[in-house]
Amino acid sequence: MNKFWSDMVKRTQPYEPGEQLNDPHIIKLNTNENPYEPSPSVKKAIVDEMDGGLQLYPSPTADMLRSAIATAKDVSMEEVFVGNGSDEVLAFSFMAFFQPGKTIRFPSITYSFYPVYSKLFDIPFEQMPLKEDFTIDVESFFDSEGGVILPNPNAPTSIYEELATIEQIIEKNPHTVVIIDEAYIDFAGPSAIELIRKYDNLLVIQTTSKSRSLAGMRVGYAIGNSNLIDALVRLKDSFNSYTVDRLAMAAATAAFEDKAYLQKTVSKIKETREWTVTELERLGFDVLPSSANFVFAVHRSVKAIDLYEYLKEEKILVRHFNIPLIDNYLRISIGTDEQMNVLLNKISSYL
Ligand code: PMP
Repeated sequence: MNKFWSDMVKRTQPYEPGEQLNDPHIIKLNTNENPYEPSPSVKKAIVDEMDGGLQLYPSPTADMLRSAIATAKDVSMEEVFVGNGSDEVLAFSFMAFFQPGKTIRFPSITYSFYPVYSKLFDIPFEQMPLKEDFTIDVESFFDSEGGVILPNPNAPTSIYEELATIEQIIEKNPHTVVIIDEAYIDFAGPSAIELIRKYDNLLVIQTTSKSRSLAGMRVGYAIGNSNLIDALVRLKDSFNSYTVDRLAMAAATAAFEDKAYLQKTVSKIKETREWTVTELERLGFDVLPSSANFVFAVHRSVKAIDLYEYLKEEKILVRHFNIPLIDNYLRISIGTDEQMNVLLNKISSYL
């Protein structure tokens, strides 16, 4: 193996898959999936696509899907890039916009893939401490040497930062790219997409995995100035890689076209989130203000790891992090009302 690749492999770390679920009785609240199936029109689109030619390669430019995203997001197709899940879009974005020797910044508590990609692509990074209330310290992101990546809402804290805060960060980094990872934005406030025409250094990344119930299909996308999108397309072309497969493309297109279903499921999840928070507080938890489809909670007397182990034995998976500052927190995805009731009853009987 030549040195470039062997150095790269040294910077990787073995992938540790999350807990697998082969038991249909498990209540899975550990990876922030949507508890509801995708829109019925998604299934129909997949079946139609299966009838229509899986022997053919998918459109390399994914025009149908990009057009559906552009319509749903009120941008033009030239401002849309699609990939296999937002994790892949993030990887291409790190490659395209961040570089070795120039330090990028992201929050100290944030999505775990940012340090992984930074190491893989040899990009130095600084993790900016959050404030005591887990919100970001906006000024710590000003004048970054190599760029900024920030999830909004943040994961795993679930906290949404107002658009004015995000805009300040973009304004104060005029010479580098600012990436806002909006995996959970549909459960929160307005998206930074409305700023892409004002700032040509802003890239917004979203996914169909959460609000549109398509985690299994792996469709993510980036929205930004067409120069940024061109860079991503060129990079992806260099890997001779089609954008996304035919079934994923058909499924995601149908999901974007069914706005009513999105609104219905998102508002149901938000409603479940609100009463779940009230009940968790009643059971002795402090819960951070959530704008996502998960909550981040610390119990006032019981250790998170003990509760996590107990729930696992009871066939309920939640997420525990072995990370200083947050090792006493549990991240709990919002499931159906029924699932949340089972969870709360189990916690109640443990206490
Ligand atoms: N960004 C954040 C902040 C996430 O939490 C996740 C999913 N866990 C992703 C990106 C990746 O999502 P996907 O690859 O399914 O689009």
